Amino acid sequence: MEKFSLYKQASEQWQKAADFFELDRDVRTVLSEPKNEISINFPVRMDNHELRLFRGHRIQHNNILGPFKGGIRFHPMVNHDEVKALAVWMTFKCALVGVPFGGAKGGVTVDPRELSSGELMRLTRRFTHALGSNIGPEYDIPAPDAGTNAKTMAIIMDTFMNAQNTANRNAQRHVVTGKTLTVGGSLGREKATGQGVVYTLQSWAQENKVDLSKCTFSVQGYGNVGFHSANILESLGAKMIAVQDHTGSIYNPNGISTEDLKNFNLSGNPIIEYQESEVIAEHEFFALPVDIMIPAALEGQINESNADAIKAKVIVEGANGPTTSKAEEILLHKGITILPDLLANSGGVTVSYFEWAQNKTSSQWPLEEVDRKLKIIMDQAYAQTSHIAKDMKTDLRTASYIVALKRLSYAYQERGIFP
Ligand code: GLU
Repeated sequence: MEKFSLYKQASEQWQKAADFFELDRDVRTVLSEPKNEISINFPVRMDNHELRLFRGHRIQHNNILGPFKGGIRFHPMVNHDEVKALAVWMTFKCALVGVPFGGAKGGVTVDPRELSSGELMRLTRRFTHALGSNIGPEYDIPAPDAGTNAKTMAIIMDTFMNAQNTANRNAQRHVVTGKTLTVGGSLGREKATGQGVVYTLQSWAQENKVDLSKCTFSVQGYGNVGFHSANILESLGAKMIAVQDHTGSIYNPNGISTEDLKNFNLSGNPIIEYQESEVIAEHEFFALPVDIMIPAALEGQINESNADAIKAKVIVEGANGPTTSKAEEILLHKGITILPDLLANSGGVTVSYFEWAQNKTSSQWPLEEVDRKLKIIMDQAYAQTSHIAKDMKTDLRTASYIVALKRLSYAYQERGIFP
């Protein structure tokens, strides 16, 4: 059997959209491979004084619309093919929402839970230093992703600044986004991806006359994206009845408090030990009769093994690439709507753009302004995607790629390809 490639899946997705509107052949050629692929093996001194070698990547797919942009992931499954796919998705995500960035992604193959805070700090600093001038505030701007957070970004920023030999090195806070507030982060960035997931759902609900306050939902992955999506949706009156993470699945038909579960989990308890719910099997989680399912963990989680069982009306992709192509076929055939990752989880990078703009002008926007501007951008991206889907009689994922590809191809048409 052919080895599964996430990069191949990402490529096939956008090429399907490209076929739809006969994308210019030159643009197709340029987008078919990343511009730069950086892989680094770097040593880190562990607490037991031994050196351990880690492998990290930064893959820069495209920058026709602006500096490379995308998260850095710390996860044991990180590999070159995965980071390449995630970089591709960033190009299209930024193009879809119209923020002036290209696409990139980084990752280190490591389980951050197994490292002490000192080890993690040394790993982050050494990886940043090894990336050197391959990142920069006007060139390539990392952000958090799975296994990294605002503190990781503060360390990357500090390392980057310290390695610069220029007088203005302290004016380069925008080398990363998703930082802690103290070091130049934006209000609303922490919850931004979840907020965007909910804005997308609200647009869909409005269009399809669905009352979200009467909906039940399940969440897969209870990290930043899973929790904030759930928490905001709960504030609208919807009820979370099931959660799954790497430790297992829990269920309570009467509802699970999003905040309470988060606090329980943050105190070091696995969600399956949560008293206010019962433990269910993985296959039962997917078969639950929920209205909304939010995959907010890793790629490939909705696949041939569980797609048939899914009963949700709508799947809103908080994660990148959570649905395999085969599963998507099955789900669409069953009449289940998929609000695709490019659209649904683009709130994160959109507020990253706000943070970058605030840093460049040494300003701090109030939370209301961040949310209001995010909503304008997300509503517009939804409207464009939905319009194309109807107009061209295609699914929302393909439509989202078409919106993005048009923007990319106009830029190439206007600028031409050098020389
Ligand atoms: N890692 C996030 C994503 O996949 C955010 C990227 C960013 O803010 O640059 O969209």
